[in-house]
Amino acid sequence: SHRIMLGPLVAAIDQGTSSTRFLVFNAKTAELLSHHQVEIKQSFPKEGWVEEDPKEILQSVFECMERTCEKLTQLNIDISNIKAIGVTNQRETTLVWDKETGEPLYNAIVWLDLRTQSTVERLINKTPGRNKNHLKHKTGLPISTYFSAVKLRWLMDNVDEVHEAVVSHRAMFGTVDSWLIWCLTGGKSGGVHCTDVTNASRTMLFNIHTLEWDPELCKYFGIPMEILPRVRSSSEIYGLMKSGALSGIPISGCLGDQSAALVGQMCFQDGQAKNTYGTGCFLLRNTGAKPVMSDHGLLTTVAYKLGRDKPACYALEGSVAIAGAVVRWLQDNLGIIGSSEELEKLAASVGTSYGCYFVPAFSGLYAPYWEPSARGIICGLTQFTNKSHVAFAALEAVCFQTREILDAMNQDSGIPLTQLQVDGGMTSNRLLMQLQADILCIPVVKPSMPETTALGAAMAAGAAEGVSVWSLSPEDLSEVTSEKFEPQINPEESEFRYARWKKAVQKSMNWET
Ligand code: ADP
Repeated sequence: SHRIMLGPLVAAIDQGTSSTRFLVFNAKTAELLSHHQVEIKQSFPKEGWVEEDPKEILQSVFECMERTCEKLTQLNIDISNIKAIGVTNQRETTLVWDKETGEPLYNAIVWLDLRTQSTVERLINKTPGRNKNHLKHKTGLPISTYFSAVKLRWLMDNVDEVHEAVVSHRAMFGTVDSWLIWCLTGGKSGGVHCTDVTNASRTMLFNIHTLEWDPELCKYFGIPMEILPRVRSSSEIYGLMKSGALSGIPISGCLGDQSAALVGQMCFQDGQAKNTYGTGCFLLRNTGAKPVMSDHGLLTTVAYKLGRDKPACYALEGSVAIAGAVVRWLQDNLGIIGSSEELEKLAASVGTSYGCYFVPAFSGLYAPYWEPSARGIICGLTQFTNKSHVAFAALEAVCFQTREILDAMNQDSGIPLTQLQVDGGMTSNRLLMQLQADILCIPVVKPSMPETTALGAAMAAGAAEGVSVWSLSPEDLSEVTSEKFEPQINPEESEFRYARWKKAVQKSMNWET
């Protein structure tokens, strides 16, 4: 059989909270040619704890790569056309491993994990005026369980193996990008220990103005700087793949998942924004070359830096901890749906929550509240309420949380968004998309190629100096087709429901104190 001539291809590893994917794109058209996806197990060893196995994560990457290469071969596509690989990952999730044995020293502590709640409360109590924004001028972040520094501190204080490895100079810290790049470029025999500016900006150890690890922050959290990865731009050659069918191909793109989605949605202009609905929900708005500090509970984060000599771009971010995770909870913990697809049917069967409100504050509340002591509630129940109403309320919760963030973002920037670009696993739920347009009172626009996170990482990899199969101009890419959801309910009804939601949020607060 003859090989199909396609020109250069670019690939991405997309290591998310709930699954790992490997995807291969045509670098001329951005067409997705083939991909493979593997679910990742999450363990909840204690209340509030969320862990994943670093070796399972790595294995899932190898499996996705192998299977995708097999599929390409079946399509008569020559895998030697793959010119570059990008990495995009769940952010903040914290790992420590031994550089001599190559072994992880504990499970990965997932971003959602709440075990550091008391540490965080202690740190905030020690700041002048009990100010959770004490480190915000440097980091863009409030002191919270969310970011890596406190998780790393917990590992050093509570896991003997980690403590010993740190003391004997064998420990390496990293977020998932660092772990994967180190392993894929050779691991204990010469692997590259690095991260990119976007992932570094979520650790709370990184100065987002100077784009360097900050000695004062490291001292504040008691973190030895020698265990930190080297910080690189989001688009440059970090190293070469050391094994498998893709051996020798450069890894040349690295972006935290939300940054990658911003790039994949082509939000390169100041003011452009996207919202990604995965395990959590993350709305990022590009603010150009300047970091804008929020007065309304949003984060300031590095959006991307697409080349060593390119300037960094910043974003304002609203992070919601629980979005798709509530769907999994309805399935695994309550058993009222058999799969995430069933949720839409169940909710659509009633078309209303019948006054039921569901605040899924399982991990406290993130933006705009940053309240670790909040806990989930379902309220407004009557004799009439059934599981369909609860399912509907769960979907509405995702939309209301996005509305709160959008309001904060509009207030911070003074220029209201006129439509919302969306992506992520949950956007396959059409009812959710329509509800979102109704609750925001602006259109919601979804690209027909939903894998924007992977596309962003692949674009960064392909644009790296020394690879350069992709310039990053949107005109270079095939026309992006999309679907638009227009608001359909009247704004008064929308406001009424939103006001009720806010009441429900107040009831969820201060539960633990
Ligand atoms: P992540 O990047 O966080 O791993 P994804 O973008 O892959 O997340 O999206 C997966 C999430 O989307 C899961 O939490 C899942 O419950 C949710 N999800 C997937 N399909 C649907 C659907 N049809 N309706 C509602 N939620 C869905």
